[in-house]
Amino acid sequence: MPAHAQTSGDGPQPGRLRDRVALVTGGASGIGASCARRLAAEGAVVVVADLDEDGATRVARQITAADGTALPRRIDVTDPDSVTHVVTEAATLRDGLQIAVNSAGINGPLSPLAELPPADFDTVMRVNLYGVFHAMRCQLPAMTATGGVIVNLASIAAHSGFRGHAAYAAAKQGVLALTRTAAREYAGHGIRVVSVSPGIVDTPMVTSLPPGATDGLLNAVPLRRTAQPAEVAALIAFLVSDDASYVTGSDHVVDGGYLAK
Ligand code: NAD
Repeated sequence: MPAHAQTSGDGPQPGRLRDRVALVTGGASGIGASCARRLAAEGAVVVVADLDEDGATRVARQITAADGTALPRRIDVTDPDSVTHVVTEAATLRDGLQIAVNSAGINGPLSPLAELPPADFDTVMRVNLYGVFHAMRCQLPAMTATGGVIVNLASIAAHSGFRGHAAYAAAKQGVLALTRTAAREYAGHGIRVVSVSPGIVDTPMVTSLPPGATDGLLNAVPLRRTAQPAEVAALIAFLVSDDASYVTGSDHVVDGGYLAK
């Protein structure tokens, strides 16, 4: 097998996250769903939160069927009250909220910057940047008593820009800034805050793009393939575990070598 072929790795480390309460936004699909399954397989009690309530319920059922513990919840990360409601409930479970993965996100329409309607720019900002702000604004105080870890999903778009995705790239650069700032402000409370910047991951966000939309990007990926969501979830499981106890304020690229060019 060539070195760059997908492998299943060592898989979940059972017990590594035993009884820790984890909230995953965007947990109904793609990277969030894979993360929810992986964290549960390592022992976490996972709140699977998404705008898509049916999808969250499906993922929570899969986790329960695999002997894990999960609760599906509807959340709209653009609505501070909705976020407060879900985070407050998660904080009452077991020893309180200790892990948050902020994965909810949207692509927005494909358009050159000068043709991008301000309303579309706003929509992408509301989910991808304000959504992370609203989430962290509730998650950080919920973790100050016990400590915890927050992982925000950024993107290689934050580093390289993406043709046709100005709002997306700008929002993700904002996520990097929010992450670094929170890491500095809350390290004294035992809270680590990191971001993950995936390359092209095989999820509905990518498969819903027009045919050929990612061809140019893929040609620039040294590993010559897209990532599977589980390969991003494996990195996130490490980052939220005690194995990453000295890791905070940093961005972690998982892009098949794209940014190394
Ligand atoms: P996805 O479309 O599979 O999942 C995104 C989830 O977010 C969906 O379940 C959707 O219902 C949910 N969501 C959207 N708006 C929401 C809202 N207002 N409130 C709550 N939930 C909402 O996408 P994915 O590929 O799994 O992406 C997850 C994260 O990773 C996103 O932040 C995305 O920007 C980022 N990312 C993805 C890729 C990729 O190639 N797939 C690459 C880099 C970064």
